[in-house]
Amino acid sequence: MDFVQLRAAMVAELEEQGIHDTAVLQAMNTVPRELFVPEEYLEHAYDNGPIPLPTKQTISQPFVVALMLVALKLKPHFNLLEIGTGSGYAAAVASLLVRQVHTIERQEKLVPYAKTRLNQLGYANIAVHLGDGTLGWPAAAPYDAIVVAAGGPAVPASLRDQLGENGRLIMPVGSYKKQKLRLVWRRADGRFGQKTLTPVRFVPLIGSEGWAEGD
Ligand code: SAH
Repeated sequence: MDFVQLRAAMVAELEEQGIHDTAVLQAMNTVPRELFVPEEYLEHAYDNGPIPLPTKQTISQPFVVALMLVALKLKPHFNLLEIGTGSGYAAAVASLLVRQVHTIERQEKLVPYAKTRLNQLGYANIAVHLGDGTLGWPAAAPYDAIVVAAGGPAVPASLRDQLGENGRLIMPVGSYKKQKLRLVWRRADGRFGQKTLTPVRFVPLIGSEGWAEGD
């Protein structure tokens, strides 16, 4: 399989679907998605759809990864927090667009999986943490951007509070199985603006400011 060609075709498809941010497209044309998918899904690495991970989780659809990163208006000096490391794919893409990525995963099994890959591939500006991401990662706050890769009933207050001035957060908000992307930003007066974007389907955000386990 010619992964370079498949990657370029995926990026061309993203452009056709309305992603025009050249930095995001370039990053997605760089990260080897085939190295983040479980081996049995290798031939689907560049399909524009989600891919199953161990422990019933999924690697998000490339279009949705792109859409969320574009909405955050990332800049090279940004400190970014991701909730839901999963395979580490989205963190790898984001790491090419910002100074530092902190990413949190609650499933103990998935953390070494992501860490090993990211280290082997030489992504030096990503810190992978094990924990409940609904509480954020206060030690490295404030963040210029926060991306939540799992769907919750509301935007956790802890995450909102860890946004810096003009910081932007994007997260799927809705029911256990169906959500809409919600964009939240901290204004200069300290208050928050918000906007609801497109419908999506993410795995549930489970934690003290998300869904209860087994909901
Ligand atoms: N960004 C990932 C896809 C993530 S799927 C990738 O590119 O592969 C969503 C992930 O969020 C799952 O791995 C799930 O275990 C994790 N998750 C759910 N609730 C969480 C929480 N409260 N804190 C951290 N991770 C959480």
